[in-house]
Amino acid sequence: MNGLVIKNTGSWYLVRTDDGKNIECKVKGNFRLKGIRSTNPIAVGDRVSIVENNEGTALITEIEDRKNYIIRRSSNLSKQSHILAANIDLCFLIVTINHPVTSTVFIDRFLASAEAYRVPVNLIFNKTDVYTEEETEYMDALIDLYNHIGYPGLKISALEKDGIEALQEKIKGKITLFSGHSGVGKSTLINTLIPNTGLKTGAISGYHGKGMHTTTFSEMIELSQGGFIIDTPGIKGFGTVDMEKDEIFHFFPDIFKFSKDCRFHNCIHINEPDCAVRAAVEKHYISESRYKSYLNMMEEEADEKYRK
Ligand code: GDP
Ligand code: ZN
Repeated sequence: MNGLVIKNTGSWYLVRTDDGKNIECKVKGNFRLKGIRSTNPIAVGDRVSIVENNEGTALITEIEDRKNYIIRRSSNLSKQSHILAANIDLCFLIVTINHPVTSTVFIDRFLASAEAYRVPVNLIFNKTDVYTEEETEYMDALIDLYNHIGYPGLKISALEKDGIEALQEKIKGKITLFSGHSGVGKSTLINTLIPNTGLKTGAISGYHGKGMHTTTFSEMIELSQGGFIIDTPGIKGFGTVDMEKDEIFHFFPDIFKFSKDCRFHNCIHINEPDCAVRAAVEKHYISESRYKSYLNMMEEEADEKYRK
């Protein structure tokens, strides 16, 4: 029988079978996936094959190839990772122009990580009810900018339930993930989308560390219209994805597009002569804020290398 993993407690998994039953499952033997060193072999969002036993539980015997997955490194000392979720159809990054400020550097770093993970992102601009005229103009300019790059934006007020219907339509039938700085209204929004989850505002995150290995409990909240929202404590950003410095621009689609015309094939678009990317920034084909975020990531990467 096949099903979808909808909850991971650390010691067992809850699987929703394709015929609609929920079954508690354990994993068969020492199940390891090729190429991934993780503390958990299976994550919420995984499609699995199970074999039922006569106690009403089952064993997970196989796991389908993932279209994507996101991880968090368990600790700096161990190279082990924890798989937070798999097969994410769409991720929403909730941003606020003010109260609190979400910087474009934060947005762009998040988007670059999502590109590396191959997770599509839409932006949600929340708290539209509180912005000044100037802030609203800035928000509209950002929506325009990101829309052109391939990240659609949605304006909402979770508090006033404004713009929620369009969002309901987008999440229908999908596995989605909501992320953003704390205070942007994630709990408020999820409670609006799924009224009976009882998430406390401001209390969505928090996970327990047990020595070197961090146990993370994750679960997916089911939508009445079909689909699931991943609720994994502690996901704020995607964390750092291992990116080689000279490939960071691959995760900025607007920059990558121009990089093909640089004079040097190994151009990193900082000081090189005849760099098509810098030319595009000067002509405003690439936005200055995006290029600034790119430089910011390049600098950080250099710092990290230095510390090692
Ligand atoms: P989280 O940390 O992202 O989960 O944020 P919360 O949902 O806890 O919200 C943080 C604060 O922002 C709370 O005081 C909410 O009432 C408030 N808030 C959330 N959405 C909106 C909104 O659309 N408009 C306004 N004005 N406040 C909001
Ligand atoms: Zn270049």
